[in-house]
This record gives sequence, structure tokens and C-alpha cells, in this order.
Amino acid sequence: AAKKAGQNRYHYFTPAMQEQALTRSNTLRDLRYAIERHQFELYYQPIVDLKTGKIIKLEALIRWHHPVNGLTAPDQFIPLAEDTGMILRIGEWVFHTAAKQLQAWRKLGFSDLELSINVSPLQLRNDGIQADDWALQLEKMAIPKDAMVIEITENLLMDHNQRARSVLESLHQDRFKIAIDDFGTGYSSLAYLQDFSADFLKIDQTFIRNLTSTSNDTALCEAIIVMAHKLGIKVIAEGIETEEQQNILINAGCDYGQGWLFAKALPADELTKLLRQQVAVSCYGANI
Ligand code: C2E
Ligand code: MG
Ligand code: MG
Ligand code: MG
Repeated sequence: AAKKAGQNRYHYFTPAMQEQALTRSNTLRDLRYAIERHQFELYYQPIVDLKTGKIIKLEALIRWHHPVNGLTAPDQFIPLAEDTGMILRIGEWVFHTAAKQLQAWRKLGFSDLELSINVSPLQLRNDGIQADDWALQLEKMAIPKDAMVIEITENLLMDHNQRARSVLESLHQDRFKIAIDDFGTGYSSLAYLQDFSADFLKIDQTFIRNLTSTSNDTALCEAIIVMAHKLGIKVIAEGIETEEQQNILINAGCDYGQGWLFAKALPADELTKLLRQQVAVSCYGANI
């Protein structure tokens, strides 16, 4: 394409671009083997009930143990996986892995736990997800479907792609729960929110970051919470880092919270420890 555009276009391919293209193709090459080589891991971040402080849900967040670059965050490879369609296989891996882990926790007695997974729009648009297949897999593992939460970004609600909407509706009919992620950052209309009855709405961390008693973001969060509740949707605030933010959200009637104030995303084993500690504390509390 550069050649067709004419000789003088060559210099636009700068060393920096070359390096970027190289990195991209290297990442792509490595990504192709990441599943087989067991380089992906799901970390889990607690979501707490703001009234009791108890962990009642977890969100699965993917990590890539890259052989050279080390622990790699999803922002570094999910967009590329989406561009190349590789997200479809990764998405299936995420679902299986999360379901197996949820089954393991249920066997340990944490049977009320809900687990969220992030689903890319592409998985819904193409034939990425067969809702019936996912439902069947959970049945085989004796996991109730409403213990699994599918997180989608709000733009998907506006998706005119019929396939995407129908997969989402099948999942919902199969009793999977649906959460609208990063709420407030995309384009959605309140009409769509009403039209599609989501179970949870997650206020994006950009609105939580600047929460102080006098900030406009406080009014915005309050309004989102009131609106969601009127529609029968529970609200999760993402990215809570301070007690001040937590208190403002509690006063605003927010249901659940997620953020570094409570815990970062952690490997499954560490989450098991946290869950056990929580049981120990509540048993001790009941005894006195
Ligand atoms: P998300 O679903 O909105 O996840 C929340 C992100 O916020 C996570 O970043 C989490 O580690 C981070 N976070 C949580 N609490 C705090 C806090 O108090 N402060 C700050 N600054 N950050 C906090 P992470 O794990 O890097 O994931 C980034 C995004 O990558 C996710 O955003 C999600 O959109 C995507 N992602 C993660 N795992 C998957 C996956 O399995 N599949 C797909 N398709 N996307 C995924
Ligand atoms: Mg999410
Ligand atoms: Mg989010
Ligand atoms: Mg996000």
C-alpha cells in the first residue's frame, strides 16, 4: 500500500512505527501459542457488599505470563486479540477457566459466591458464544447459571447487530446475569437501559476517581444510582481507592464496591485465603 501511494510515502514508515509493527507482530506470534503453553491466568478481584463489607462476588481478570515481558495486563493484548479474532478462543478459555474455579470454590463451601467474566463484543457478534453450550457446561458442573455474571460494555446495548442482541438475550433467558461495565464512558441511551433489563450496572472508575463531597461526580453518581434502582438494577462502583469515596458511595445508596481499598485482583489461591478468613471472622463474631 505504501508503494502504491508513491515513492515519497516511504519516509512515513519511521523507525518508531517499524518498531511498533515489529512489537505487534511479535505479540501476535506469541499470543497464538499462549493458550497451549498455559501462559494465561485468571486473577480475581473481590466485589464487596458496601453495607456489610463482605465479599459476595468476584470479577475474573485475565493476565498473560509472557515468557520475556513477564506479567502482562489485558490492555496490552486484548485489543490485538480482538483485532485478529483471537479473542474468540481466549474468551472460551476464560469462560471454562472461570467456571472450573467457581466450581472449586463452591465445593469448598463458598456456594453463594457470584463470578463475573468480561465478554468482548466480538464474542457476541460472531459465533463466539453459543449460549446453550455455556448453559450446558454450567449444568454439567452443577453451577447455577445465575452464579455467573457476564460483563459487557454499554456500547453493546446499542449494537444494532441482531446476532449480538439475540445472544445476549439468550444468555439472559438462560438465567446468566448481565452487568453493564464501564458505565458512563460509552454511548448509551437510558431507553436502551430500560429496554434491556441488566442485573448490574458498574459505574466506571473515572467517575469514582474524583469523588469528593463537593464534586460534580458525586451528583452524577447519585443520579446514576437512583436511576438504576428505579429500573431494578443494582449498582457496583469500580475503582474505589479511598474511604472517602467509599463513604460518599454508601451515602448515595450504592450497593456494591470494587477497588484497591478492598483488594487488588489476586491469583485464585490468594482469593481462597481471603474467603476463608472472612468465614473465620464471621464464625468468631457469631460466637460472642
Ligand atoms: P474492567 O472490566 O473495567 O476491569 C476493571 C479494571 O480496573 C481491572 O484492570 C482492575 O484491575 C482495575 N481496578 C480495579 N480496582 C481498581 C482501583 O481501585 N484502582 C485502579 N486504578 N484500577 C482498579 P485490568 O485487570 O487491567 O483489566 C483491564 C480491562 O481489560 C478490564 O476492564 C476489561 O475490560 C479487560 N479484560 C480483563 N480481563 C478480560 C477478559 O478475560 N476478557 C476480555 N474480553 N476483557 C478482559
Ligand atoms: Mg469488567
Ligand atoms: Mg469496568
Ligand atoms: Mg474497562
